[in-house]
Formats: sequence, C-alpha cells, structure tokens
Amino acid sequence: MRLYDTQTRKLQSLPAPPARIGIYTCGPTVYQRIHVGNARPYVISLWLKRYLAARGYEVTLVENVTDVNDKIYAAAPGASAALARAATDWYVEDTNRLGLGRPDFEPLASETVSEIIAMIETLIASGHAYTSNGDIYFAVSTAGAYGQLSGQRPDEVEQGEGDDTLKRDAKDFALWKAAKPDEDTSWEAPWGRGRPGWHIECSAMAAKFLGPSFDIHLGGLDLVFPHHENELAQSRALGHDFARIWMHNGIMRLGGEKMAKSTGNIATLRDILDEHGAEVFLLFLMSGHWSKPLDFTAGSLAQARAQADGFRDFFLTKAPQGTADLEPLYAILDEDLNTPAALALFHEWRSRGDSASLAAGLELFGLGALTVTREASKEALALAEARRAARAAKDFVAADRLRAELDVLGYEVRDVTDPSGQPSFQLVPRS
Ligand SMILES: [Zn+2]
Repeated sequence: MRLYDTQTRKLQSLPAPPARIGIYTCGPTVYQRIHVGNARPYVISLWLKRYLAARGYEVTLVENVTDVNDKIYAAAPGASAALARAATDWYVEDTNRLGLGRPDFEPLASETVSEIIAMIETLIASGHAYTSNGDIYFAVSTAGAYGQLSGQRPDEVEQGEGDDTLKRDAKDFALWKAAKPDEDTSWEAPWGRGRPGWHIECSAMAAKFLGPSFDIHLGGLDLVFPHHENELAQSRALGHDFARIWMHNGIMRLGGEKMAKSTGNIATLRDILDEHGAEVFLLFLMSGHWSKPLDFTAGSLAQARAQADGFRDFFLTKAPQGTADLEPLYAILDEDLNTPAALALFHEWRSRGDSASLAAGLELFGLGALTVTREASKEALALAEARRAARAAKDFVAADRLRAELDVLGYEVRDVTDPSGQPSFQLVPRS
C-alpha cells in the first residue's frame, strides 16, 4: 500500500503484509461536543486500521485525547478538569455511534505527565531546552531540519503562542508552562509546578504506545504547523526517528469556510448523526479523498442519503449471495486509500448485482447496517397496505397513526411510486 506523505511530498510504501503498523492520530481537544470536521481524522484512522487489518497487518492505532490545553482553561476558568472529563465522555459517546470500533489506545495527556516530564528533563540535559521563570522552552535553533515538514523557512517561523519576553528566541515554543492562579490543574516537576505544552503531550503519548519510531502519523492539515513541526523537532532532539509517513487530512469546509470551533462555524457530530444517521455521514466522508478539502453542504448530504437508500434498497429483500471478490477494491485502496474510487466500485457492484462483494466492501467501511436483509412481517405489510389506502382516501390522520404503529414494529415506511406509476410503499427495517 502507498500513502501520500506530507514530509517527502510523495507516495510512500508500507512494508508488505504481514507486518506491524503503528499509527498515531492527533485526537480532539476536549471542551465541547466535537464537530464533523473533528470526526474526519477519526474516521480516516479507523478505516485505515480496518483496511490494513483486513490485508493481514497487525495494526496498533493510538488516538490521543488532549485534555490539558490553553483552550480548555479558557473555556472553563477554574473548572477545566471537570469540563475536559465531561467533553471526553461526549467525544466517546458521539464517535461510538459511527460504528467503526475504537482505537487500540486513547491516552489522556493528563495521564502522561510523568512521561512528559522525563522527556523535558532529557531535552534540558542535552541543551535543547531551557527554563525561564518557571516555563520551559524548546530552543528551535538547536533542531536540525526545522521547518522541513511544513515547508516553513526557519528564519520566518512565528509560533503564535507563549510569552516572547521569556524566550531566548521568538521561534522557541513552550514545553511546560508555569502554574497560573486561574488554572485548576497543575503538576509538580523538578523545575516547579505547572503543566505541559500541547506539542510535547503528543510526542510523549506516541512514544509511550508506539516507541521511538512508528509508521504513520495522522492529523488534520491545520496541524502541520506548528503542532506537528514541533512534535517532530522535540522527538528528533530526543534521538527518535518518530513517524515515517505523515498523513494530513484535508479540512472540512462549511459554507466554503474552514470548520472550527473558534469561529463558531460548526455542525456538531451529534446533531448530524441525530438528523442523518451514521451511514449517511460515512458515505459523505467516503465521497472525498482524505487528503483533499471536503465541502459539508446540504446537497452533499442529500447525495449521501440517496446513496445510502440505494444500497439499503438493494439488500432489502435479498441476502448477499455468492463469493465476494475484493481484489478490485484492494487495488483501489492500496493506492492512497482512494475512497471515492471505492465508492464508485460499490455502485458498479450494485448495478452488476454482485451482492457478496458489495456487502463485504460496505462492511469494511462500517456500513454493514445497509446490508440488513429482513422480509417485512405479515402484520407490517397489512399496516403499510392500510396506510396506503388511508393516504389514497386523503385520511392523513389515520396514515400518520399507521406510520407510528409501523415505527413501533421497527419499520420505516417510505412512499414510492411503483413501476406502473401507482402510489406504493416500501418498508425499511431499522438497523
Ligand atoms: Zn497532536
């Protein structure tokens, strides 16, 4: 399999299976319900893990939870820890609904502080970091190849955070921040109480679960600089090879703008799943290549819904038959996890009636609920027929009551036109 790597700007090959593959994904900073843009790297990571596992790799996926961060302190002054705990639960609850399983490890920054302190001690001892008024800064000038990942010129770097008056150089970034009176969490360290900076959290969590070098680091394109550039600089300064391939997913745009909590331009994952269900959202994500921006619009969701309906209808009355042949799907996914091409193949399988391959392919992407086959019961068919008659007689009160009864039986009734042009119905079992 080949994957596009930000650092070399080329497709890079994975070793042939079976091999161990370690993946680290930057997870959410927890202070609100996650938005659909945050869900994109989560979904891509789990699709990649599921695909590699299907190909015989032994995959370890680590996706962290950033529960110590400036944004959380700002969102809940004096009560950041309680907010982070609640928001971590929301994140797990919302992403569980996607039905893709979970990463193998989901470390919290707040539970990795001893490893972070040990890393900082090593960086100070080796001259890569220095203390300043209780803060610790990483000295960027000591890092080789700084700026290589993001393509920044080292002399033009602006970190955009930290107190410049405490730094030897404005390019330096914080590894540790001294405790402040309005912050409710802090830890004891050899240089005084405080809490870790964001970048060192990820370097420590990646090393803790994947070791000093691993295969794939994944995250949103907006994290390339400064977050990933700084993760890489620290880890290299520690003598770690760190990630071999850097996958950066394209940003999700709402109304043409980047979706971000800080600008209020958001749609929460929970709301979208409530309204459309996991299958529609996953098909929408499949429609865009992971490395490209993706526009989140009513039209693109409607298109995904039509596709979900099409696949579901295909399986409604017939169970998958025959033997799946996934080789064409593997050939597509081996080339940079090309999900739009995979989706096109699913449509081809559907039109050819290859139900076994289609069912297996959908299952790989967590879309197995679309392949549920269940003949409607006699009772349900009778209710649906009565509802059709009520609608024909324009008795919409009775029609609504019958729809509610079908709902209790576990069916969604859809009004369709049969091939002769007459009003008819379709019963869709709820998954
Ligand atoms: Zn990170």
